[in-house]
Amino acid sequence: MNAVTRLRNGWRKAINGGGCGSARRIAPDVSHGTILYLEDITVSFDGFKALDALTLYIDAGELRCIIGPNGAGKTTLMDVITGKTRPDAGSAWFGQTIDLLALTEPEIAEAGIGRKFQKPTVFERHTVLENLELAAAGKRSVWGTLFSPLTPAQRERMDEVLEITRLQGRRHMPAGALSHGQKQWLEIGMLLMQDPQLLLVDEPVAGMTPQEVERTAELLTSLAGRHSVVVVEHDMDFVRAIARRITVMHEGRVLAEGRFEDVQNDPRVVEVYLGE
Ligand code: ADP
Ligand code: MG
Repeated sequence: MNAVTRLRNGWRKAINGGGCGSARRIAPDVSHGTILYLEDITVSFDGFKALDALTLYIDAGELRCIIGPNGAGKTTLMDVITGKTRPDAGSAWFGQTIDLLALTEPEIAEAGIGRKFQKPTVFERHTVLENLELAAAGKRSVWGTLFSPLTPAQRERMDEVLEITRLQGRRHMPAGALSHGQKQWLEIGMLLMQDPQLLLVDEPVAGMTPQEVERTAELLTSLAGRHSVVVVEHDMDFVRAIARRITVMHEGRVLAEGRFEDVQNDPRVVEVYLGE
């Protein structure tokens, strides 16, 4: 498959995934200050409960870190929020009015929930700018052509995103020539082109240099306020650097929640981590 075909296929996926033909996005109602309500969520795999009556609330504009040993249910939790996995029981609301369990995976993305998977999936042979344009295409008309100019608003957003991700100086560079960390930031930038209200990020700093880890902490911190961000991460230095509200998961439930210092000294948390 040549590059253009791949790009077009990717673009088509973005369109189908983005539900581009639909009307303007209906924003979640966060007038009560909460953007995500998960209550009593249970997910069973052959009788094994990956999530066990889990309850979790995320504030609008908050940056939340979710930690927990392997198998705690962190990825399953993200799968439930994005519609990839349907819970056996419980409720999941995006703001006051959007019932996530009534929506398909593409509809959830369209409603304003973006997800960054662990592995960067940028178009290596295309420039940073082209990657961002492609990501913006999800919101454009199906009949718009790939190389048609962006709207002024999209162009403005692209400049903002280049600044947030500090990729201005590399805008004409093929994505394949970026460092691992820069590729991760580009992919976060691609998600930001869609301006999601809620951004889910799974283990963003795995494989990064210490400087890249620090920069990623700054980047995600800078997103809070305009976006709500939920970060799953193992790297404790990174979690400490972000140092906001932390949720510790264990065996499909919330074990502890609070500031870094609080959960760090919680005997139940210490026990779970020592047991790893
Ligand atoms: P974490 O991301 O915290 O490491 P996961 O959410 O990936 O944990 O997994 C939670 C538990 O559910 C693990 O024991 C895992 O083996 C199990 N699990 C996850 N997905 C599936 C699946 N599709 N089928 C069966 N078991 C699964
Ligand atoms: Mg996981």
